[in-house]
Amino acid sequence: MTILNNKQTELLHNIIDEAGLIFIVAHKNPDGDALGSTLGLYHILRNKGKKVKVILPNAFAATFEWMPEVDNIIIYEKQKNKAIDALEKADLVCCLDFNSLSRIEELGEHPAMNKKPILMLDHHPQPDDFAEYRWSDVNASSTCEIVYNFAEHMGYLDFIDKNAASCLYTGLVTDTGSFRFSATTSRTLHIGAFFMEKGVDHVSIQEYIFSGNKLSKLQLWGFALYQKLNFIEKFATAYISISKEELAKFNFEEGDLEGLVNYALSVKGAKLGILMTEKHDKIRMSFRSKNGFSANDFARKYFNGGGHEMAAGGTSFESMDKTIEKLLTSLEEFQQ
Ligand code: 5GP
Ligand code: MN
Repeated sequence: MTILNNKQTELLHNIIDEAGLIFIVAHKNPDGDALGSTLGLYHILRNKGKKVKVILPNAFAATFEWMPEVDNIIIYEKQKNKAIDALEKADLVCCLDFNSLSRIEELGEHPAMNKKPILMLDHHPQPDDFAEYRWSDVNASSTCEIVYNFAEHMGYLDFIDKNAASCLYTGLVTDTGSFRFSATTSRTLHIGAFFMEKGVDHVSIQEYIFSGNKLSKLQLWGFALYQKLNFIEKFATAYISISKEELAKFNFEEGDLEGLVNYALSVKGAKLGILMTEKHDKIRMSFRSKNGFSANDFARKYFNGGGHEMAAGGTSFESMDKTIEKLLTSLEEFQQ
């Protein structure tokens, strides 16, 4: 675990106090923790009187549209000039919920990125060395938990109001599967309690995130579980593969398959659950694992990806059939 030392803390205090604009960014295909941590930090810094911009590489799911000030987020894919303008003007870049600039693609390659002080707040293993100010804690349940720890460290807890708390609570909920996964600690629950004391309406947040399902989304899940779920006993692996055409049939929208991969892992006897979805000319892969199987190592080694020990993602640049073939040979090799 790396947190800020005294010298870095003092320097960062100065940078934040003097900053005309602070730029906050999270990873591509943003989930609840990416949205929650960026908007949570946005509210904290705004309450401190700072000017702040949140930038996400691409669009987020409709389940997060309720989040306070979500309309102020700049989506890079849709508003490149606005995003670059903010980056160029920023006095501090905060990178949340990712550990490698490749996770923000084009934005990470922009020359302005190298000229700014960077603060990274993240909980993924094996971080790249791109941030001068690095807060990396793989034992934190979520980046939202780290944003709380960072706020405490910096003396910013008073800036956590109901809006900040609602955003940050969301990341706790989504990254821990509503406080079910092993990353949930007593500290996570203490921090969750702090947010509730700030007025978080936890019932509504659950409702926003997990209810209000479109009929077509539920039908897609039904189809995927009924027709597309396979279990390979000798590899203790269950996988679901869905083609572009199949997605189109169910009017797929970003976020519709969030969480489905957990059902693959829930198959009795499975140590690895995989969801493969065809997007444009790539196959997007989601891995969930247990009982000592490292989803992170597997995704890194075979599918250009990475993530956490038990939850990782990756990409295949081949057809679905070829990807499944490669999956089977990779599992064979990995098992040895
Ligand atoms: P998901 O399956 O929900 O998309 O991702 C699971 C976890 O793996 C998340 O923490 C996410 O940030 C990370 N992840 C997903 N895709 C990639 C990837 O392509 N590369 C890396 N390094 N991490 C990923
Ligand atoms: Mn996260």
